[in-house]
Amino acid sequence: MSKGILYTVSAPSGAGKTSLVQALVESNPEVCVSVSHTTRPMRPGEHNGVNYHFVSHEQFASMLEQSAFLEHAEVFGNLYGTSQHWVEDTLTSGMDVILEIDWQGAEQVRKLMPDTVSLFILPPSLPALQQRLTGRGQDDPAVIERRMNEAINEISHYIEADYLIINDDFTVALAQFQALITSQHLRQPVQSDRHRALLSELLSEQAL
Ligand code: 5GP
Repeated sequence: MSKGILYTVSAPSGAGKTSLVQALVESNPEVCVSVSHTTRPMRPGEHNGVNYHFVSHEQFASMLEQSAFLEHAEVFGNLYGTSQHWVEDTLTSGMDVILEIDWQGAEQVRKLMPDTVSLFILPPSLPALQQRLTGRGQDDPAVIERRMNEAINEISHYIEADYLIINDDFTVALAQFQALITSQHLRQPVQSDRHRALLSELLSEQAL
């Protein structure tokens, strides 16, 4: 069984990253998303263990001490971290894993696992981004303004990613994301590993 492929997906808040990842995973049973741990309070409609594992600062600190995180970062004043064991076990089982994490986390993962494929999702414009942040209706205006400033900072890190998708039309962006996943599976080393038996048969002299 060959190992799965690890992806990081980063984006400014409101670029539509979570919806795109969710739609992609729904149509790809061999791809799954890591559920991060966070100290951020739960938003309405979120569920513990589904959107995040919501933990206290003490729990997070204790996990850090036990080196439980593949990466971790402080984003908007809250702590976020990716479970190292879960990612390793899932990749070993042959599934692809998507980490929906910020640029700081993506940088840490790239250093630890250089084969990671990094994707950055961008909004089509700043007004569109602002509209999406306001439209969500879950945060107050001060939070939205702070997140707009944070968004510009996050966007400045697009250059570090391997791939960029502009999420203007959702259907187009999803098709591009799907094309990226498909192309990674068609890479020669990945295909060679998956089709080892076929390749050895094709190259066997006995077949002649
Ligand atoms: P939100 O709290 O709005 O769901 O996410 C805020 C930011 O934290 C987003 O940019 C999201 O990608 C990032 N984030 C979520 N989980 C993790 C994680 O495990 N690690 C890192 N580094 N960032 C994360």
